Amino acid sequence: MPGGVAIVELGAAALRPSATFDGRRVMVLSKPERPGFWTAVVGIGLAADPKRRHTLSVFAGDGPAREIALALEPKRYAEQRLTVPRRHVDLSPQDLMRYERERIHLADVSSRFTASHEPATLLLASPAEGTRSSSFGLRRIFNGEKRNPHSGMDIAAPAGTPVVAAAAGAVADTGDYFFNGNTVIVDHGQGFLTLYCHLSEIETTVGAIVDAGVQIGRVGATGRVTGAHLHFSVYLNATPVDPALFLAR
Ligand code: ZN
Repeated sequence: MPGGVAIVELGAAALRPSATFDGRRVMVLSKPERPGFWTAVVGIGLAADPKRRHTLSVFAGDGPAREIALALEPKRYAEQRLTVPRRHVDLSPQDLMRYERERIHLADVSSRFTASHEPATLLLASPAEGTRSSSFGLRRIFNGEKRNPHSGMDIAAPAGTPVVAAAAGAVADTGDYFFNGNTVIVDHGQGFLTLYCHLSEIETTVGAIVDAGVQIGRVGATGRVTGAHLHFSVYLNATPVDPALFLAR
């Protein structure tokens, strides 16, 4: 379904096949208990249309790509309509320029595919103690205008609460961004990345190798927010998917 993950068995092959979905490379993992058998883990975009045909292209050896059709089920995410003063949603020309620059940079980082590193697990540790919202995919309409749907999970917690890496990986980016505030992005390999926003403090550096559970910052209210919380996003093949799928309940 849109915002979800497709697990596709690719069968046996001597070498790891590669696979693409919507032109983007997707994660291909081997199962420790069945070496030589491969599984694709495909992030499905919130904007994916279930009425359209979607195919996973699998490349093994020199042969032509094998096309695997993925049937999507519709999922209707909740809608939030807000009427807010225009000055709260309309950006100044300077802010718009800054936002556009940052949007391109963040899209570039979140679409990284580190082929050499395979995540040890897809099960994520909770990035912060707090109350999880189920607002992933929320369709936001401000003053009658469609905004991007909510691309992550919000975890409400007091400012200063430790924020930890949800899995082992390499810190791919840190920065202070217009909407996201203080942000850390961790690359877990094979196109699997996690993003932590609105931090009061960033307590790591780009290039640092972190284990799951290592503190990388603290909950804050930086960027465009109304109160302290952690915005947590999970990316597969450059696509934000529902973080709740990866976290223990
Ligand atoms: Zn959020």
